[in-house]
Amino acid sequence: MASDQCDNAIEMASQIIELFHQKGDTAYGGEEVSQTEHAFQAATAAERDGADCELIVAALLHDVGHLVHDLPEDCAESGIDDHHQLLGEVFLKKHFSLRVTEAVRLHVAAKRYLCSCNPAYRERLSAASQTSLELQGGIMTDEEVVQFEAGEFAREATELRGWDDEAKIAGLETKGWEHFCEPLVAALQLARDQSPGSGEISEKQE
Ligand code: FE
Repeated sequence: MASDQCDNAIEMASQIIELFHQKGDTAYGGEEVSQTEHAFQAATAAERDGADCELIVAALLHDVGHLVHDLPEDCAESGIDDHHQLLGEVFLKKHFSLRVTEAVRLHVAAKRYLCSCNPAYRERLSAASQTSLELQGGIMTDEEVVQFEAGEFAREATELRGWDDEAKIAGLETKGWEHFCEPLVAALQLARDQSPGSGEISEKQE
């Protein structure tokens, strides 16, 4: 890998970390954790389950969409869907692989899917998550279930959903950026290595 690519990955990681420093202390809508705590707890669960760097990062950044708009943190309680999964995808897609961005984009659909297939899952959802479920379209129809299951990244999105759901524990201590910076940079570098315009490929072509 060319060193400028490495620098770019570190620079992008720094920008993401700075965004969390600036806006991540806000409450995670209706829950007893902040956005940053929620991100770390989700990433910690992914790592515990043996996820690779892309899925650890998908867990870490799955709600970054909440940090890139100016709606109030409790907007769901006012009946507003912030479409954070789509904002997150747009924010991430220039820099991360499709596997990361699709897991992020689909993590809300995965909640709707799991609620359709498993009533016990729906009952276990936090009150805030049940409120936002209705704004996000409610449970899936049978047709939507078939479509979701046929998607290339359905498994990743469903796994991510599980980590998301458990990442709401007030006061739970986790590792922080000093730990998660490493998978973050690795996932950024992986996406750059995979992209057609990456330095590694052009070096091979020369
Ligand atoms: Fe979340």
